[in-house]
Amino acid sequence: MKVRLDHIGIAVADADAGTAWYRDRLGLTVTHVEQVESQQVRAHFLPAGGAMLELLEATAPTSPIARFLEKRGPGLHHVALAVDDIAAALTELRAAGVRLIDEAPRPGAEGALVAFLHPSAAGGVLVELKQPAVGVAAGQPQTVPLFRGPARTTLGDLELISLCDGFFALDGGAMFGTVPRTLWEKSLPPDSRHRIPMTMRPLVVRGGGTTLLIDAGCGDKMDAKSAAIYGLDRRYHLTHSLAEAGLSVDDIDIVLASHLHFDHAGGFTERRADGRLAPRFPRAKYIAHRGEWHDATHPHERNRASYLAENFVPLMEAGVLTLVDDEAEILPGVRYRRSGGHTFHHQVVIIESQGRTAVFTADMYPTHVHIPDPWVMGYDLYPVDTLTFKRAFAREAIEREYLLFFEHDAAMAAGVLRETNGKRSVERVL
Ligand SMILES: [Zn+2]
Ligand SMILES: [Zn+2]
Repeated sequence: MKVRLDHIGIAVADADAGTAWYRDRLGLTVTHVEQVESQQVRAHFLPAGGAMLELLEATAPTSPIARFLEKRGPGLHHVALAVDDIAAALTELRAAGVRLIDEAPRPGAEGALVAFLHPSAAGGVLVELKQPAVGVAAGQPQTVPLFRGPARTTLGDLELISLCDGFFALDGGAMFGTVPRTLWEKSLPPDSRHRIPMTMRPLVVRGGGTTLLIDAGCGDKMDAKSAAIYGLDRRYHLTHSLAEAGLSVDDIDIVLASHLHFDHAGGFTERRADGRLAPRFPRAKYIAHRGEWHDATHPHERNRASYLAENFVPLMEAGVLTLVDDEAEILPGVRYRRSGGHTFHHQVVIIESQGRTAVFTADMYPTHVHIPDPWVMGYDLYPVDTLTFKRAFAREAIEREYLLFFEHDAAMAAGVLRETNGKRSVERVL
């Protein structure tokens, strides 16, 4: 088990006086305040170097903090240590005979999972274990507000629903290629393992009696080791998101692949109880690009980890996969457009209705932070092709006010690219 100091909890009778003292005497400021209902406390966070002070105020007489103040008066309450996998940490401690207060992790502040160890087990110190929310560094407040949706809008006659297949985290350096960290870290602060928060947002397009799903996230076939590497958090995923949108796997008529990487195509298939792999959407016809299929089924050392046969070969075997070419029309108003760059045949999806255009940008603009033309992922196989495509595409998107969908953006599902006095920004829509 590897632990890092996350914060030190201090019980205060009067939070205003407490925070004023730390501000005036020690120069520490409160970055945010959070009410934790389950604990009946209000927590005030003051970052101090790589960790935080957490001033705790009771919100009810039955709060553990109220009882602590009654018994011992204001002062040091607990030490919180961050771990990567809190469930594994509790199992390890239980096996070693350590006395626990919480047998299972429970929700804490900022989307974290927490569990307390009994003070008798740690020399009289109340120890909190904390697994920060994905993309949040130990000792740092959550700076990227995670958005899961589903988020719905209309485009002419079409209905668009952005879904979510859970959150994960990827190395920030790899996500921004040659762009120095000092430039991107303000927009997407990395965690203590240098990873930034990401999500997977498949998009539903409904119109003319047909329901189309573009990409399907990573699905549930990933082994525990890979899931840990990618910081996969699937407490909420596509099945929940479809249900919240009033849909189920049976409602999908067509599944379209932007490309066949596992974080886009993993959700295309599922493993049945008997171990067989089968299409996850039982009624759907699946569509992928012919060249992308060829590359995915002939991987090389550089892309092998991304192309997992279990995600797409069973579709071909089941006879439900159709291969098409660049510019293929999927539905009236919905077509492929080759961007290349990320993979040779990577496609964005153009959606048009009544003079308005939306674009599912897939891994061309993985997040809205990737808007500057040269901010190209290190993962891209042909980065100069990405740059060339982005340059022309951005002009078009600004002039024609495209609604852009950001498939991996943890905080924003869609927005419109604006340019004022040569400076670009994204106006959030969903
Ligand atoms: Zn990809
Ligand atoms: Zn991707």
